[in-house]
Amino acid sequence: MLTEIMDLDKVQQFKSWLDYAKDIAVVAHVSPDGDAIGSSLGLAHFLRSQGKTVHVIMPNGFPDFLRWLPGADEIIIYDKHRELGGRIIMETDIVCCLDLNAISRMDQLANVVQKTSAKKILIDHHLYPEDFCDIIISHPKISSTSELVFRLINSMGHFDDISTQGAECIYTGMMTDTGGFSFNSNNQEIYLIISQLLSKGIDKDRIYRRVFNTYSESRLRLMGHILTTMKTYPAYRTALIKLTKKEQKSFNYIRGDSEGFVNIPLQIKNVVFTCFLREDTEKNMIKISLRSVGNFPCNKIAAEFFGGGGHLNASGGEFYGTIEEAEKVFETALAKYENELKNTKD
Ligand code: 5GP
Ligand code: MN
Repeated sequence: MLTEIMDLDKVQQFKSWLDYAKDIAVVAHVSPDGDAIGSSLGLAHFLRSQGKTVHVIMPNGFPDFLRWLPGADEIIIYDKHRELGGRIIMETDIVCCLDLNAISRMDQLANVVQKTSAKKILIDHHLYPEDFCDIIISHPKISSTSELVFRLINSMGHFDDISTQGAECIYTGMMTDTGGFSFNSNNQEIYLIISQLLSKGIDKDRIYRRVFNTYSESRLRLMGHILTTMKTYPAYRTALIKLTKKEQKSFNYIRGDSEGFVNIPLQIKNVVFTCFLREDTEKNMIKISLRSVGNFPCNKIAAEFFGGGGHLNASGGEFYGTIEEAEKVFETALAKYENELKNTKD
């Protein structure tokens, strides 16, 4: 049996909304990852099983390796279909905001979500949720929003309404946000949930292959290139990788091609902290991704040096300047956190 972690008053409130609502929109964060897409589609499948008209709207595009997910082909990409996306959000009865803790994480989509008079629910696992929804279901200790979607459906008494397709989406989000259950995944109940998803007929081994083993040739070559230019800082148990716009062009980079790169240097013995700097082709900034292991709080570095935040072991931010300047700032951070890095328990 799963432990009930949800606040049942909130579950009941959401359930009562569903009694009258007909149209529901599901949205998630910009540059949606496996958990953002998996939780959104998982929730959408369930809501459709309840007779609702559901639109899933993402602020911008998502990586190819998620395209096979049931329902992914119907996702509306807001930065390509602003008018349609905007109209749906303004006219819908409920907006479900998933896998984000701040309205700004929806980028341009935030403007319409703010304006609409629809009821709003937040379902998320990031720290410090902003108070912009009528119902806030926030559980930072849970490793994925997809798990929360499963728990919410379960708590509403609708386990039987989870379809194989919905279960595939939920499993994908749980799997991607834990690196294939290799981090943030010691909670026993994750495996109870997986067992229940398997009872819905999902093929978890196939899902793994579809997500992790369907890369393009150019992504693999880009990975090779990035690793040859990787910088290591043995004294700080840290590694840094970078990707300039020029390199993106010469490797036919498409969005999502560098997904997961930041984790690779953690495979080096004794490395506990990694940074990935990428020149963004759309916005004039450097996107920073940070990862750590053990008790080293990479979200502190993201907040202090790059105006960002995130989880203890996975965080990010932005830098306005050149990639070389961002690298210098990162090195300043390393010097400041030398002791913590040396003493990190991995
Ligand atoms: P990623 O490196 O995969 O882009 O992001 C990892 C995590 O860091 C995200 O799940 C999110 O919690 C956090 N994050 C990434 N970029 C930003 C940012 O610009 N601002 C904030 N506040 N958090 C971010
Ligand atoms: Mn997530």
